[in-house]
Amino acid sequence: MAKGKLILVATPIGNPGDMSPRAREALATADLVLCEDTRVTGLLLAELDLKVNLLSYHEHNAESRHPLILERLRAGETVVLVSDAGMPLISDPGERLVRLILAEGIPLSVIPGPNAALTALAASGLDSSRFVFEGFLPARGKERRTRLAELGTEPRSLILYEAPHRLLRTLTDLAAMGLGERRISIGRELPKKYEEYLYFTVAEAKAQYTHTMPRGEFVLILEGRAEFESRRPIREQSPAAAENIDDLIRERLAAGGRLRQIAQEIAELTGWPANTVYERILQLRKIKPEKPRLRDSDSGI
Ligand code: SAM
Repeated sequence: MAKGKLILVATPIGNPGDMSPRAREALATADLVLCEDTRVTGLLLAELDLKVNLLSYHEHNAESRHPLILERLRAGETVVLVSDAGMPLISDPGERLVRLILAEGIPLSVIPGPNAALTALAASGLDSSRFVFEGFLPARGKERRTRLAELGTEPRSLILYEAPHRLLRTLTDLAAMGLGERRISIGRELPKKYEEYLYFTVAEAKAQYTHTMPRGEFVLILEGRAEFESRRPIREQSPAAAENIDDLIRERLAAGGRLRQIAQEIAELTGWPANTVYERILQLRKIKPEKPRLRDSDSGI
């Protein structure tokens, strides 16, 4: 039986000049091009002056497209997968298709190219030797809280994607997790005419976007715990970094768990001594949530 090939092709994230000759050739010679949005990829193809057989492939129709895609591949055709921009599969569709065709023993190749995460990391000035790609945080709920808590303890640099209308919320949540003093680099509109790389602490970025409406597409590179601690020992951190400790405690108490364990985790996250956090947990369990937040004078620190 003839076996075709699936090729994952990266496309520009902002500058058409970043379309590689190999990527163009793959699109030009494909029997079928799968794309998230036929209008978006249609514009790219028009710029490249290519006429190509396009089929939409996104998270809502992926399963129903698989039989047809497999049929075409088994018939020996070359199928290309692109996303709206950047590397397919990186916060974009394609993972299920790749697993499927690997299971079927159909050949696969990748034509690499632009990617917003690595572009922003390279300019961040933060530790790029070890990093974690987080993509988009869950929008809300327990899943979001859990993930935010994990970010605080992660030793490596963190890469986050964020939509402009959610940027301030995310910066606010990071600050509330006691990460206000962490450095954060924000890459915006990369690599377009008005690209920007901004360098802040989380608290500064939050203040900036409280007054300025974020516009465009953003990648956040957050300093990991290891670099933060090596730069400035945790005991020297300003108590201001932990001013929202009460919120953190209430959140963790609501999620449940052993008090000592909760105290330990919050201590690691904020730099407050575990015993102080534990005492505060005991106090907060007795008083209503509206009571004033922990101040230096309350803590004895
Ligand atoms: N697959 C893409 C890649 O390889 O970068 C990412 C797709 S994801 C759906 C879209 C998110 O990537 C945006 O919300 C933004 O966070 C980030 N992004 C994409 N293009 C960008 C750009 N030109 N400048 C900054 N961030 C960008």
